[in-house]
Amino acid sequence: MKVLGAFGSKTKNSQLSSYLLDENTVIDAGNLIQSLGDDFLKLDNILITHAHFDHIADLPIAIDTYYSRIKRPIKIFATQKVIDIIQENIFNNKVWPDFSKIPLFENEGNTITFHALEYFKEYTIGNFIMKPYPSFHSDGSCGYVINNQMVFTSDTFLCYHTWQFLNENKNLTKLVIEVSFPSAYNRLAVLSKHLTPALLKSELESLERDDVKIYINHLKYEFIDKIIDELKEIGLYDKVTILEDNSEIEIV
Ligand SMILES: [Zn+2]
Ligand SMILES: [Zn+2]
Repeated sequence: MKVLGAFGSKTKNSQLSSYLLDENTVIDAGNLIQSLGDDFLKLDNILITHAHFDHIADLPIAIDTYYSRIKRPIKIFATQKVIDIIQENIFNNKVWPDFSKIPLFENEGNTITFHALEYFKEYTIGNFIMKPYPSFHSDGSCGYVINNQMVFTSDTFLCYHTWQFLNENKNLTKLVIEVSFPSAYNRLAVLSKHLTPALLKSELESLERDDVKIYINHLKYEFIDKIIDELKEIGLYDKVTILEDNSEIEIV
């Protein structure tokens, strides 16, 4: 997995959520253009965790930018609820053209196709086995269990599924989980359904193993130093890896 965008804020030095599984398949579309360039054209599968803008921002722009060179329909996977939100609010011929009804420039088929995923079902998508599961973050939001090896929460807030999966299945050895705000912003974190270092620590009390490699993502840019300080204060900093743009995690 190559991290194309590790953060919850877009700045000159931080990019929005995008996680490339291999050259054909990516989770979330926060940063596809600047990171991939023309390699965007190799993508067949774009999985979306939820419809918040930081996870879909490059999707409409990239499809338009590369339209004339897209050779086969790009498949967009998400829960039906998230697909509905994206269709109604982005690809609605008002904010942006409905590329699911626009034929490819040269080949048969429409430019994008939407594919609804159901929670807790396993799907083979590209070279990966993906199991979406509900997170408690936004309408239709999900995390993914990837290749029976990694739990990828995306934006999550409190979510007992994460810990249940990890406790029950020892094949799951990697966890990517968000921390967005410092603990002092607990109210904002709860309102926006995000984790703080303190909330993560209390969540981790549900984890009955100590052999899970934990990666942290989605830090809000303005709070990076504060979040790192807090992780140190509560003794978590040495137990986790904070993801950055271009970090890599092995998935086999
Ligand atoms: Zn979100
Ligand atoms: Zn987000």
